[in-house]
Amino acid sequence: MAIKRDYYEVLGLPRNASGAEIKRAFRKLAFQYHPDHNKDPGAEDKFKELNEAYQVLSSPEKRNYYDRYGKVDTEGLHGFSDFDFGGLGDIFESFFAGFGGAPFGRATQRTPQKGDSLQTPLTLSFDEAVFGCRKDVEVQRIENCPSCYGIGSQPGTNPQTCPDCHGTGQVKKVQRSIFGRFSHISACSRCGGIGTIITNPCSQCHGRGKVKGKRELTVDIPAGVDDGYQMCLDGEGNAGLYGGASGDLYLYLSVRPHHLFRRDGIDILYELPISFAQAALGDEIEIPSLDGKTNLKIPPSTQNGTVFRLKGKGVPQLNSSRKGDLLIKAVVITPRHLDKNQRRLFEELAKTLPPTKLP
Ligand SMILES: [Zn+2]
Ligand SMILES: [Zn+2]
Repeated sequence: MAIKRDYYEVLGLPRNASGAEIKRAFRKLAFQYHPDHNKDPGAEDKFKELNEAYQVLSSPEKRNYYDRYGKVDTEGLHGFSDFDFGGLGDIFESFFAGFGGAPFGRATQRTPQKGDSLQTPLTLSFDEAVFGCRKDVEVQRIENCPSCYGIGSQPGTNPQTCPDCHGTGQVKKVQRSIFGRFSHISACSRCGGIGTIITNPCSQCHGRGKVKGKRELTVDIPAGVDDGYQMCLDGEGNAGLYGGASGDLYLYLSVRPHHLFRRDGIDILYELPISFAQAALGDEIEIPSLDGKTNLKIPPSTQNGTVFRLKGKGVPQLNSSRKGDLLIKAVVITPRHLDKNQRRLFEELAKTLPPTKLP
């Protein structure tokens, strides 16, 4: 398997390209490399590559994942050969209709389809991210109608076979174009490719089979998550079609900053201001840590910027018993104001200290 090119590079776009720009670039290049009329060796591979890039970048969810992790599960993305391409005029119709999730084309006909995944932001405090917490998350999603169980027919009645396509969900059309005659199989417009029509719609969902639902989920956030992490809740997204599984719900975590600490992965960074005297003579002081106050010994002759490490006083590593460290950086503070006496003492001291040598 060859190394995959960057999807943005494949489409010749910058990483901040809009959805419309992605679509436009893809249309242009797909037209250029479509194997039906580009017989160059390599055109088909190029076309497949374009197709894969487009399917990822045109889906906000997949694109987000790709931007974050640089790869995405592309299993099943090479579905283009499942479409019947008619003349060139039909390429894009079949193509785009197949991507949008609309009930159109063979790929979507009555086969169970997983529901759309949803995403929602979730803000945590610094401590909640470090120690883990339980949060309530409200999600608005599409659920199967509780009255007709997602079928769309009034309870006690059944959907009827579509008279136009006789239940196949497909109609065949013959079209003429400058390239000749082409037969083109497309989804039945009467039943939308499903093969059945609802003659007696469910009164609760008006035949859609789906209703909007608002759910409050209680989520256990594990200790050690960090700003920018995402958590996937399996099956908590929109309900699937034709008996397909529900999509997933992605929680995008952001973590509010702490007034004293910063995080560097599983380590905690803390800047400790110390005086000239403490730096020169050493001291033992109480400092804050994640689990309360702790003692720190500052050795004599501590230099500005020295970092002390307290092992195991950092953040728990996700799904592990390991813990990071607390890193304390000494920041030597020069006095802003000296009273008369202090000034005199410094002057006395200065006489005994040799001036700093240039390196
Ligand atoms: Zn219903
Ligand atoms: Zn039909």
